[in-house]
Amino acid sequence: MAVTVHPVLPGVYHIADSMGVCQTLLVGEREALLVDAGYGIEDIRQAVEQITSLPYRVILTHGHHDHALGARYFGETWMFPQDLEDFAEYTAQPTRTRILNSARSKGLAVDEKAYLSAVIPGPKPLCEQIIDLGGLTAQIIHVPAHTPGSCVVYVKERQLLLTADDWNPCTWAFFPKALPAQVFRSNVRKLFDLPFTHVLCSHRDQLYPRAVMQAFFDGITDEALRNAPRVTIGGWENTNTHEAAPAEGQVFVFDYDKLQL
Ligand SMILES: [Zn+2]
Repeated sequence: MAVTVHPVLPGVYHIADSMGVCQTLLVGEREALLVDAGYGIEDIRQAVEQITSLPYRVILTHGHHDHALGARYFGETWMFPQDLEDFAEYTAQPTRTRILNSARSKGLAVDEKAYLSAVIPGPKPLCEQIIDLGGLTAQIIHVPAHTPGSCVVYVKERQLLLTADDWNPCTWAFFPKALPAQVFRSNVRKLFDLPFTHVLCSHRDQLYPRAVMQAFFDGITDEALRNAPRVTIGGWENTNTHEAAPAEGQVFVFDYDKLQL
């Protein structure tokens, strides 16, 4: 059981855990920044400290369990306060038990008692800002879409955008707190004003060219949303989930009942 570290660009490490989610570590000359903490099954703190001995801060892009449960390894984290309710729900016992069972089914060894009983400090309020790591900056941008408190990170020196769950080739926008599809689209589209050339997202380990994300947002037109077929997502059978296919190999799953027709 170990994380896999992908050194994708100078000072940029995309860290994939065995549960299939990635975190990104940005390492400057003076300090580092960990973007997301993962499921908390593996010791992400140890992984970070094997890469860098610099001081570092941890931000959570949103409050979902696969980004937030790893906060158990850190004394403090930061997150946009709009997601505090989700954070409380997704780090509570029922979610931990479900994740633990899922880890076991993958054959991963977990200290069950520690996982269930760990005290996870509530994140401190994050706000939009530019964090100067020394030779590398992280611009924190609040982009309500996947959740109301979702944020992305722009690294100007690498022309790199970290979209977390606000975009990946299989973007989920059907959770109760997810913004309606058209609002989701317009909020994320504003990011194309930035001169990024590459994108990292939470649920893939490779670097994507900007054009792949662009094709996605060009493809989720009002018509594509209206005509998207119904799809069933396990555990979400009571949500009116529909799936648009905006570009080859990409899907957008959203709550049709929130669509502004
Ligand atoms: Zn999420």
